[in-house]
Amino acid sequence: MPEGHTIHRLARSLRAAFAGEPVSVCSPQGRFADGAKKLDGATMNSAHAHGKHLFAEFDADRWLHVHLGLFGRFDVVEEPAGPVRGEVRLRMTSARAHADLRGPSACELLDPAAKEAITARLGPDPLRGDDPEPALNRIARSAAPIGILLMDQSVVAGVGNVYRAEVLFRAGVDPARPGRSVPVDVLQAIWADLVHLMTLGVRTGRIDTVRPEHEPAAMGRAPRSDDHGGEVYVYRRAGQACLVCGTPVSSGVAAARNTFWCPTCQR
Ligand SMILES: [Zn+2]
Repeated sequence: MPEGHTIHRLARSLRAAFAGEPVSVCSPQGRFADGAKKLDGATMNSAHAHGKHLFAEFDADRWLHVHLGLFGRFDVVEEPAGPVRGEVRLRMTSARAHADLRGPSACELLDPAAKEAITARLGPDPLRGDDPEPALNRIARSAAPIGILLMDQSVVAGVGNVYRAEVLFRAGVDPARPGRSVPVDVLQAIWADLVHLMTLGVRTGRIDTVRPEHEPAAMGRAPRSDDHGGEVYVYRRAGQACLVCGTPVSSGVAAARNTFWCPTCQR
């Protein structure tokens, strides 16, 4: 599933391609036909992300809400549209750009109240400059494992499986530790690190989490080969040597997703 930085990048691409212009909207596959008809010809004023949710604002307070889920993709291309390929739920076009949405878990037209109902259920997002206190307070009061709390979108919005594993490694915190056992200054440092790492992710479009001294050239090792890209400490490195201490990286299931940690570096 895409993590928050991908959705913030997508919002930025949509703004660059369409903001301030009337756009043609259609649903070649038909499953968003009614919504597309209502948006067709309207001006897209802005687009932004909150966690993994994308919102595009059109004239007259109408909001397009998209969640990519596990399999969705939204391709924004600064070229006129060609023939439709595959199952396109939503196509947005202007004279100079087009965007095709395929396989989302949500694609719907909302009024401001319905949009507010969705964002009210989301925790602070490290990429929006949100006040972290509601998230830190929830974690500090919870007996649930911090590895699960960080993935709960009502606690922190936008963190997925990769950032969860990596930020806990960098903080030296075992993902199984109850949230309330983690000191507040460590929670504050984890939040600051999420802001730092995810902002970098927005800039580069990939997740890199290793410090300069653990990069391939510095360690004389081969770059990581994984379709997720990026240099990481533990994510999908089960059984491989920890880049810091050499202990084999452990893996297990938390919040229904595999997670990874170093049993020596993380306590
Ligand atoms: Zn280690």
